[in-house]
Amino acid sequence: MNTPFPPVEFDAAIISKLSQSGPRYTSYPTADRFQGDFGYGQFLEAVAGLRMRRSRRPLSLYVHIPFCDTVCYYCGCNKIVTKDHSKAAVYLGYLKQEIDMQGRLFDGMGQIEQLHFGGGTPTYLSDKQMGDLMAHLHANFDFADDAHGEYSIEIDPRTVSVERVHSLRAQGFNRISLGVQDFDPDVQKAVNRIQPEAETRAVMDAARAAGYRSISIDLIYGLPKQTMASMTQTLDKVIDASPDRIALYNYAHLPHIFKPQRRIADADMPTPAVKLELLAMCIQRLCDAGYIYIGMDHFAKPEDELAVAQRQGRLQRNFQGYSTRAESELISCGVSAISAVGATYSQNEKTLDAYYAKLDDGVLPITRGIKMDNDDLLRRIVIGKLMCNFELSLSSIEQGFPIKFRQYFAAELEKLKAFEDDGLLTVDDEWISVTPKGRLLIRNICMVFDRYLGVAQDIAPQPLRYSKTI
Ligand code: SF4
Repeated sequence: MNTPFPPVEFDAAIISKLSQSGPRYTSYPTADRFQGDFGYGQFLEAVAGLRMRRSRRPLSLYVHIPFCDTVCYYCGCNKIVTKDHSKAAVYLGYLKQEIDMQGRLFDGMGQIEQLHFGGGTPTYLSDKQMGDLMAHLHANFDFADDAHGEYSIEIDPRTVSVERVHSLRAQGFNRISLGVQDFDPDVQKAVNRIQPEAETRAVMDAARAAGYRSISIDLIYGLPKQTMASMTQTLDKVIDASPDRIALYNYAHLPHIFKPQRRIADADMPTPAVKLELLAMCIQRLCDAGYIYIGMDHFAKPEDELAVAQRQGRLQRNFQGYSTRAESELISCGVSAISAVGATYSQNEKTLDAYYAKLDDGVLPITRGIKMDNDDLLRRIVIGKLMCNFELSLSSIEQGFPIKFRQYFAAELEKLKAFEDDGLLTVDDEWISVTPKGRLLIRNICMVFDRYLGVAQDIAPQPLRYSKTI
């Protein structure tokens, strides 16, 4: 398959009708299903299993730097806001210890083809600290060369100079994503993130001059003080800046969960109707400007690797969103980071104290996780394919698993009929195909295949845990 996908179609009536809370499926099972009885021992077993099977799947690394200088009020990330940079030095000591342990475990098991630094703010680290950390990673893992590896870092343009952008390239990064959210000064003030447009443009120009292979910009719709007029101006500037990829996130206002969001005045929030208009306008403008809607918040230029991978049916979904690489073992280091190794997910301790304590005890700082059963693995593939390709070949699933799709998923296919009636998808003997209208509601469609939804949990009820699907 190598055909362009049909454009996305915005249907306000259907979107309003189906608006509900739901997971983003960066993993399946989702992280709220991880269990406390999964720890270091189970992780070691998973790695031993890979060794026994002589797995040659490529390796990916994720490194989490949790610190930020100031807090953005919309933020729902796991971060530590402090101006005391000595905390980063202590953290780096422990992080290196964890990298040493993971490096020994995965020794000889393949090359790192993907690296992602996320946060927090990775560039909270000084240039010297980052150079040191990258050298440490290279000492512990075998990296594919620059032409074959995807090495990306999230950059807060407020924290880097032109020289720093060049330095990060020299340290091995070849992709950057820039947090922008909105260029409008009133919106920036309302979310406590003052970031002049010129500063962001200077970083992008520097990145182009330094030879980064891809520049991505993060935007958010639904922020306080956003209006159609302000968002139009922001999009003008973004389109003019011409990043290779754009992530357009829906602001999830969950002040009962995320404390900083309590500093956002309710009166400044756009109404749900305005939010939908904002989304429709953003999609229209970005598609008119030549960007392809990849799915779930992501747009890319047609020649960008993400769009190419989607056309060729080899797009993957992971904790960073979409990825062009074949499924790989994901080794994650740092507080709260989530690894995906073999048929397991495992998450590190979420507080610095607990993270440090486990490393002091000489064990990997894993706090919870899950060992997937066959049903989990099957549903993970179904959800992943729908998220990435907007279609699913039933026979391809039957080739990989000993099931008859129509029998195994009889209840799910019955539930899909309501989506079919709304024109969001079609089901025939061979394919489930999501229509242009259904693409924006892909989370709702995938939720049908999520075995855990609706299962009683001793945690907060579903509407409180997840963001709105659109
Ligand atoms: S949005 Fe980014 S920079 Fe702002 S507080 Fe959250 S993690 Fe830190």
